[in-house]
Amino acid sequence: MATINDNYLKLKAGYLFPEIARRVNKFATENPNAPIIRLGIGDVTEPLPAACRDAMIRAVEDMGDRDKFKGYGPEQGYAWLREKIAAQDFQARGCDISADEIFISDGSKCDNGNILDIFGNNNSIAVTDPVYPVYVDTNVMAGHTGEANEKGEYGGLVYLPVTAENNFTAQIPSQKVDLIYLCFPNNPTGAVATREHLQAWVDYAKANGSIIFFDAAYEAFISDPGIPHSIYEIPGARDCAIEFRSFSKNAGFTGTRCALSVIPKTLTAKAADGSDVELWQLWNRRQSTKFNGVSYVVQRGAEAVYSPEGQAQTKALVSFYLENAKIIREQMSAAGLQVYGGVNAPYVWVRTPDNITSWDFFDKLLFNSNVVVTPGSGFGAAGEGYFRISAFNSRDNVNEAMKRISTHFK
Ligand SMILES: *Cc1c(COP(=O)(O)O)cnc(C)c1O
Repeated sequence: MATINDNYLKLKAGYLFPEIARRVNKFATENPNAPIIRLGIGDVTEPLPAACRDAMIRAVEDMGDRDKFKGYGPEQGYAWLREKIAAQDFQARGCDISADEIFISDGSKCDNGNILDIFGNNNSIAVTDPVYPVYVDTNVMAGHTGEANEKGEYGGLVYLPVTAENNFTAQIPSQKVDLIYLCFPNNPTGAVATREHLQAWVDYAKANGSIIFFDAAYEAFISDPGIPHSIYEIPGARDCAIEFRSFSKNAGFTGTRCALSVIPKTLTAKAADGSDVELWQLWNRRQSTKFNGVSYVVQRGAEAVYSPEGQAQTKALVSFYLENAKIIREQMSAAGLQVYGGVNAPYVWVRTPDNITSWDFFDKLLFNSNVVVTPGSGFGAAGEGYFRISAFNSRDNVNEAMKRISTHFK
């Protein structure tokens, strides 16, 4: 008799975004004329940069030309893309990262989940709370946790609360953990990490033989010049960190799909016999076996991000969303709400007024203003009492949503 992976049954049924969709759909059915504005899910809204589109069109033409046609590419990605990434995203910032330490993929979400393939099942794992749900759910699926309690916390995970009280940067744990998920600029809080904070994590990881999974999907949104864009700007990080990046948010590739992970060749972890094994070798083996690369057309599109036009266009795209975030911050503050984030990230993290729960405030905004936000408690127990507003929207929608919420609060 065939059996299932029972770990899937531990997953909390009401995953955040389906529950939001359920409530919005119910409201929309009961109020068919309500002009709903969605500032909820973190998907981009603006079209692809012209440089990327043009490059992809040329690549499609290549595919129709017998001499330029491409079949299977390297599982790790084309060298011309990996070299540009290494030079412009890393070496230009003083990071000692080479092209062959970069693995091109079809998404950071997949990479964040797939990376667990090369790690053992008995690692202790730390996540921040609130957290990007992918880190937690992939560990649940892999059998690395116990059951969830009523707050949605899984047994066996170490939760590091991040709140206004600690400036949304987790305290370095007092106990030893083996794997640590960090995301800066942060989804959902919009917080960033200083060089000192990242150095403290790197020192901790090196002292404890831990590996940091550093999710830098939003690095392009960093506008404060003192904030590191990569964990590899921190001395020692080559020996303790894997970095994940994506073209989804800087270049609008959420529907096009291209990302990368960085596995330094100096990074090792222990085998059962106590020996040190290179993680690069394992990941290379894993990708070569389970993955056949990102399409040539898409990799050409990603490559165009590094051209002068692509750089200017992605910068303009990021600035557009950051201006939305600024409008959101200003309007929410003016309405008397306490706001965080939104300066180096496309997310504004807002305290609910009068200690209302996140979901009650979600319903209030939906019913009274027809605006959809994301309840903070959906990202973890410590997100209770907060909600996330996404800056990924048209300027008109942002202005209209802010006008409605402000009027409602006066
Ligand atoms: C959007 C996002 C990503 C990118 O995911 P893709 O699969 O590359 O689209 C990664 N991490 C976080 C925290 C995100 O919000």
